[in-house]
Amino acid sequence: MSSPTEAASERDELARLAAHIQHHEAAYRRGEPEILDSEFDELVDRYGELADRLEIDVADRVDAAPGADHTDGFETVEHKVAMLSLEKLSPARKDSAGAPIPLGEQLAQWYARRKKELELAEDAPLPLLVEPKVDGIGVSLIYQGGRLARAVTRGNGRTGDVITRQVQQTGAVPSRLASVTSGELEIRGELYWPTSAFEAYNARLKAAGERLVINPRNGTAGYMKRKEPEGLEETGIQAFLYQVPWAEGVTLPVRQSDILDWLAEQGLHVYLSEAHRATDAADAFAYCEGYHPRRAELDYEIDGMVIKIDELKWYRRLGETGHHPHWGVAYKFPPERKPTRLLDVTVQVGKSGKLTPVAHLEPVFLAQTTVSRASLHNFGEVERKDVRIGDTVYVEKAGEIIPQVVSVDRAKRPPDARPIHRPKECPVCGALVVEEEVFVYCPNPACPAQVQERLEHFASRAAMDVEGLGSKLIEQLVAAYRIDKPHQFFTLTADQLARLERMGTKSAENVLAGLERAKGRGLARVLVGLAIRHVGETMAEDLARYFGTSDALLEFAARYAAGDTEAVEVVAPEKGTGAIEGLARKTADSIFAELASPQVREVFDGLRAAGVKVEAVLERRVEVEGVAGKSFVLTGTLPTLKRKEAGDRIKHAGGKVSGSVSKKTDFVVAGEEAGSKLEKAKELGVAVIDEAELLRMLGA
Ligand code: AMP
Ligand code: ZN
Repeated sequence: MSSPTEAASERDELARLAAHIQHHEAAYRRGEPEILDSEFDELVDRYGELADRLEIDVADRVDAAPGADHTDGFETVEHKVAMLSLEKLSPARKDSAGAPIPLGEQLAQWYARRKKELELAEDAPLPLLVEPKVDGIGVSLIYQGGRLARAVTRGNGRTGDVITRQVQQTGAVPSRLASVTSGELEIRGELYWPTSAFEAYNARLKAAGERLVINPRNGTAGYMKRKEPEGLEETGIQAFLYQVPWAEGVTLPVRQSDILDWLAEQGLHVYLSEAHRATDAADAFAYCEGYHPRRAELDYEIDGMVIKIDELKWYRRLGETGHHPHWGVAYKFPPERKPTRLLDVTVQVGKSGKLTPVAHLEPVFLAQTTVSRASLHNFGEVERKDVRIGDTVYVEKAGEIIPQVVSVDRAKRPPDARPIHRPKECPVCGALVVEEEVFVYCPNPACPAQVQERLEHFASRAAMDVEGLGSKLIEQLVAAYRIDKPHQFFTLTADQLARLERMGTKSAENVLAGLERAKGRGLARVLVGLAIRHVGETMAEDLARYFGTSDALLEFAARYAAGDTEAVEVVAPEKGTGAIEGLARKTADSIFAELASPQVREVFDGLRAAGVKVEAVLERRVEVEGVAGKSFVLTGTLPTLKRKEAGDRIKHAGGKVSGSVSKKTDFVVAGEEAGSKLEKAKELGVAVIDEAELLRMLGA
């Protein structure tokens, strides 16, 4: 047990970790990862361990919500058995003296604990089954009378989105089981994109000048949320099935290893040849360790192995935490890392003018692809690592995203290795650079490289998501029609588009349709698209919600930039307590200065004139007296409202929703099975209300 002060500081650390994780997740989704995948995993591991120890409610955990969450327009259903995470054997785990615990030992400890819980003798047999952990998206299939009735995403683990038509269209699972004709059962597995199919699909996108899918996992998640399933059969997305969490009126084998055979007999795709029945923990661990070289031969990405107790009869007895079941544990592979030679370093200009060093490598086969370029992050990093051209460097690719140069092998440095210098001028426009700590910037907003990057960013999925408007086409548009501001996209004519090389009337129409659809995305997405420094997804949403319209926002920015003290007070009296949460003075100065510029105004005027929605899609807050300005904490299961819904309604009425109870909390809304938060509220004398009372306060 930890003392109260220890627990408090652990909670602080947990909150810090959560903020980091969310920040890096957003950066990753924007396609601008700032840390290595392995570093990110470490953060998540540390967070998971701490959250387990503090028994944080699953609904409040940032690692509990898997990527594929609820998407508007999809029907949401409840899982009969929650789709949980898996406990991980973690390289970050340390013993009480602070020394790392080897993974094999962690598994042995896990195994011994399970035996104890089952009241088995230490030397009693307890066979395990080891399976690959495919890096895809979890899916739940319901078969009724042997026919596929429903396919559902993992969602938040409790509820998921119905994607039956999408899954059916891929052809990844059979519509009928081979020998089951009655009863009902759930089959779980993983939807994934085989590497070869993924690359072939991307090659086709590239040939068509369209935006590529970033990685197989996110790609699978994205495609499964396509409203119109037509064409999904061309993606080559597949499914591996590995679990039957419940069945009614269907007789099943009693071991996990036999379940896999049974699933295969039913016509489902199963990784039979890759699974290994192990006699004990040591055997299972040896199989995991021996599996590393096999990874490269697989046509799908795996990020580890899952070790499961083979006898299903024990599962119920072993139980689960709110976060993971006790019948299994995951072994994670260390990220693949290989040495290669650094042949050259070029400089890439980003949308905000940031100059990034890019490593050109002797091609090396790494995590299923040939890598010949890698990120060196920034010039500060290059200096810190003292990387030189000609060096032997280690490259890492933790399953996905951009490969990274992680270290240098000094011993192998050839005598003619050349140091890498910070550029003095922009390699594209020649402007003298500006240095800001570890970063180097091209200060010229008209720099052609920046213009291209900004336009691409505007059309990108994270921003306005204009289908059909990829980098090739943007390049052509810049060259042919001197487009340099995003609003100019919207005044393009079919004729102008069709005249471009490799474009026909059909593609031109598609692009126009894509632009038409993008018009309604709303102020937050427009703001993201403008690539204003410090305005990421969350900040854009906050600004849009707070100001509601571009007019209000720009008018405010002008006042703020002019030094209007009232405006300054409104938005950022001091860090964290202003009208816009967490907006610090320096950040606000920078954001509003940019928003007050004539360039930004021109773009907004242009967008409005073209019929682009520059108002918040979310309704403006309608402040409700008694709720506005008050701080709420939600706990337990509410009778009618989902927690997110309740939170949204409170925020909409001007209230704040926070994850933990403190002296500053005004109300705790408690539902069924409210736990420690309710106790904390009572302890601190915070008002506790139920859903009905909340609804009354909201005037609903
Ligand atoms: P995580 O989300 O990393 O905690 O891992 C849990 C997820 O791993 C599950 O929800 C599944 O989607 C996925 N998974 C992949 N392969 C397997 C497997 N062989 N057995 C169980 N889960 C698997
Ligand atoms: Zn430049």
